[in-house]
Amino acid sequence: MTFDGDGTRVVHAGLPDPVPGAPFLPGPVFAAPYHLDPVAGQVVNGYGRPDNPTRRALEAAIGELEGGRTLAFASGQAAITATLLATVRAGDTVALPSDGYYAVRAFAAGALRDLGVNTVLVPTAGPYPSFEGMRLVLLETPANPGLDVCDIRALSAAAHAAGALVAVDNTTPTPLGQRPLELGADLVVASGTKALTGHSDVLLGYLATNDEDLLARLTAWRAQTGGIPGAFDSWLAHRSLATLDLRLARQSANAAVVAELLAGRPDVRHVRFPGLPADPSYPVAAAQMRRIPGIIGFDLGSAERVGRFLSASELVFAATSFGGLHTTADRRAQWGDDTAPGFVRLSCGIEDAADLVADLTAALDAA
Ligand SMILES: *Cc1c(COP(=O)(O)O)cnc(C)c1O
Repeated sequence: MTFDGDGTRVVHAGLPDPVPGAPFLPGPVFAAPYHLDPVAGQVVNGYGRPDNPTRRALEAAIGELEGGRTLAFASGQAAITATLLATVRAGDTVALPSDGYYAVRAFAAGALRDLGVNTVLVPTAGPYPSFEGMRLVLLETPANPGLDVCDIRALSAAAHAAGALVAVDNTTPTPLGQRPLELGADLVVASGTKALTGHSDVLLGYLATNDEDLLARLTAWRAQTGGIPGAFDSWLAHRSLATLDLRLARQSANAAVVAELLAGRPDVRHVRFPGLPADPSYPVAAAQMRRIPGIIGFDLGSAERVGRFLSASELVFAATSFGGLHTTADRRAQWGDDTAPGFVRLSCGIEDAADLVADLTAALDAA
């Protein structure tokens, strides 16, 4: 039988067939070299950089969820920069989101520009330029931190008609929220550091594709440049994946309640949550996404007021990153994001909604 419930899929993703006496998820295999067959040489595993069984199991699991062959990397940035460097050449042009993850823009303005690669920055909500003459279009939807969304299917069709490749940063939704390969993208790139693993204890990245040529190029790229995750991090990530459906369900439900609370307060401005029917992202998100991430954007007017809000809250941790079990909030302007000084990205955790509402209400009142 094929089981397609999300909860079932994440619990079983990438697990080996049952073997009596063996664990459900085998523990991490720590090895740089492995024993070789003295005569035949490499029969199974040879060396840890190209090849590790713990990492392979994690890649199989993520691959089942994304619907594509998957390579794991040491971080999201390692996966994204690998994708850019392995696909573009001097003289090429890439389109990147102007409102997406800031370190990708910084990489384009530094290393990519030095290599002779041109970058066109495009807001996720559009308008999009002609993709004629572009090598690669990177989309990020919902964009972090502004939460605008774009139509992956329509933009992939337009990019392909112009001969460009399309990669989608799927960090914020995770493969349970959105499957870009099914919507026409050539590649998924993502950070597994956020909701995918969700316990704020692992840095991880991955890419997924069904294009054999791209996969071969990127597999060679990773083996040659070496940005792999270690066995323990790979195992932690695989173990955490089993609760992804439960975690996202609670985060998303909490965010829906909190977004209503924030939208109803006169002292909170510009509330963004793609699950609110009044949100500009709502129509495309409702059509394209399988669930809405637990992330909310809003503006408290000044850095000082954000500071008072975070000091007064007992449940919201001041922290960058997002998608974890604990509710966290980040004033993005402190990192150089092009956001208002009082803009907050709130990531709802898996606490009880009533407690979050009580705590946020008291903290906003105090601020
Ligand atoms: C965090 C993040 C990245 C980078 O991932 P790391 O694991 O921190 O390297 C890339 N894209 C998005 C959308 C992110 O949120």
